Amino acid sequence: MAGALLDLQAQDGETYWQQRAEYEMEIEMDVSTNRFTGEQKLTYYNNSPDTLDRVFYHLYFNAFQPGSMMDVRSLTIEDPDRRVGDRISKLTPEEIGYHHILTLEQDGKEVSHKISGTILEVWLNEPILPGEKSEFSMTFESQVPLQIRRSGRDNAEGIEYSMSQWYPKMAEYDYRGWHANPYIGREFHGIWGDFDVKITIDPTYTIGGTGILQNANKIGHGYQDEGKTVEHGSDPITWHFVAENVHDFMWAADPDYTHETAQVPGGPLLRFFYQKNDENQEAWAQLQDYMVQAVPFMNKTFGEYPYESYAFVQGGDGGMEYPMATLITGNRNLRSLVGVAVHEMFHSWYQGVLATNESLYPWMDEGFTSFASSITMQHLFQPESDAFPHSGSYRGYYFMANSGDEEPLTTHSDMYHSNRSYGINAYSKGAVFLAQLGYVIGEENMMKGLRQYYNKWKFRHPTDVDVIREMEKVSGIELDWYLTNFVYTTDQVDYAIEYVRSAGEETFVQLQRIGEMMMPIDLYVEYNDGTTEIYYMPLRIMRGEKPVENEEASRVNMPAWPWTYPTYGLRISRPLSEIARIEIDPTGRMADTDRSNNVYDNTVEIIPFTDPTR
Ligand SMILES: [Zn+2]
Repeated sequence: MAGALLDLQAQDGETYWQQRAEYEMEIEMDVSTNRFTGEQKLTYYNNSPDTLDRVFYHLYFNAFQPGSMMDVRSLTIEDPDRRVGDRISKLTPEEIGYHHILTLEQDGKEVSHKISGTILEVWLNEPILPGEKSEFSMTFESQVPLQIRRSGRDNAEGIEYSMSQWYPKMAEYDYRGWHANPYIGREFHGIWGDFDVKITIDPTYTIGGTGILQNANKIGHGYQDEGKTVEHGSDPITWHFVAENVHDFMWAADPDYTHETAQVPGGPLLRFFYQKNDENQEAWAQLQDYMVQAVPFMNKTFGEYPYESYAFVQGGDGGMEYPMATLITGNRNLRSLVGVAVHEMFHSWYQGVLATNESLYPWMDEGFTSFASSITMQHLFQPESDAFPHSGSYRGYYFMANSGDEEPLTTHSDMYHSNRSYGINAYSKGAVFLAQLGYVIGEENMMKGLRQYYNKWKFRHPTDVDVIREMEKVSGIELDWYLTNFVYTTDQVDYAIEYVRSAGEETFVQLQRIGEMMMPIDLYVEYNDGTTEIYYMPLRIMRGEKPVENEEASRVNMPAWPWTYPTYGLRISRPLSEIARIEIDPTGRMADTDRSNNVYDNTVEIIPFTDPTR
């Protein structure tokens, strides 16, 4: 109990703390060997209340070696990612990735360290006291792996360098301690801070990625002031990027990039890096117009994007988000290209700015991103439609829930028993979490709560408790039951109309909770005269009611349902002969895993009812 209370206190806005990292890196890339040397100066601020005697770095490229944990995971999981499969096991010495640490010092003195797979363990000479900082200086030599997953060289579309998870990166330490998770191909958690990165590379390469280029007029490549051109000789050139208040830094480089920009009125500047060809150029041209239209809608609906630029960079192996930029595969039709661009840019909200630990809360970045993307894609492609935008997410969730194979949303993202189970939970059930919350507290409250959560927790590491607390504050409704049951368990929602009976001038309806998961009920009663009434039964445990959402139907507020009661009987004040249809939540927002028992209509045989309580 004490532990749980401490957890909540640690995430309270007043006592919250987070570490800070300031990286300065100088990289020299040799494009003939795919190797680079690096110097890294890292100023690390221990803002925790704890004394640290060890630190850990991630060495992600080490995952791309035969026999690595990632390799074995892919060889043994029941449904391996097709992009990985057995490919790591077959990499040659020239194709593997690695980081060799040449020197490492803490505050000017050599420090003891050991590489263990994808983690560098460092035993400090001097512990770092609470409120103190320490400076780590490292030199390293790395080989860029052949692209297997996310990062690497020579991706399937011919992009030479997708440089994500590419540098020795200090692991995050937070109120739950160190997060030195071995890299087996999935999620990330990084320290908030600043990056100052100098990359020296062959002058024919164009670089796109995180950060603001500091020497644009010397570089050219589409970054320079309009009208100016920059001539380069054959000597390598040094690109200088700065990114402030981010938790990672990605870059990509290719000699055949086309670099175009589009300005969103009021900001940000959008950059597009892609290999233009006859098949994709039309889609990439239209993408720019779509994103200029999308970003103001995204800002207004979900909170303001806070950086001055954002880059869509062809690279990687699908779509993957990074601060201020994304890597996306680019040879797609328009709808697919806009879809991946919107999705990845939304990660700027859900993970980029609200930096939830992706290993612990993948549903809070992928799920919330899917939720926001579905709304935005409908706004872009079917602006007149009032269809429920999240039905695809519900279908995914129902498939998993009814398969008997569901794992709770709290499962660590590396430890799901299948990729399918991870994918449906993180993307679909995570989106359902929000859409269904709209049913529980009202759509407007939920959207307002989501913006409030963004504004309160931006540039921090929020948790599931932090989002539910904002939803409670905005609605005045208690929601701990919703978090604990829908997220921490696989309990399902299944409510039924058990029976409907005529009771003279009234109609008696018996509702039944079949699933373990409790929910408030909107019961729609449609009459033969075309009018509709909503009988609303909140849960007693909610200690409140949602506002009226549907102005076209009158709402009858019923006594709250104490969730332990398996049934709930109610009287409708009109005779059964006047009723056309009764349905539990026809909006489809309550994630009822068996909707077949949610409806009564007047084709069902009428059984005369004698109420024993009368
Ligand atoms: Zn995503």
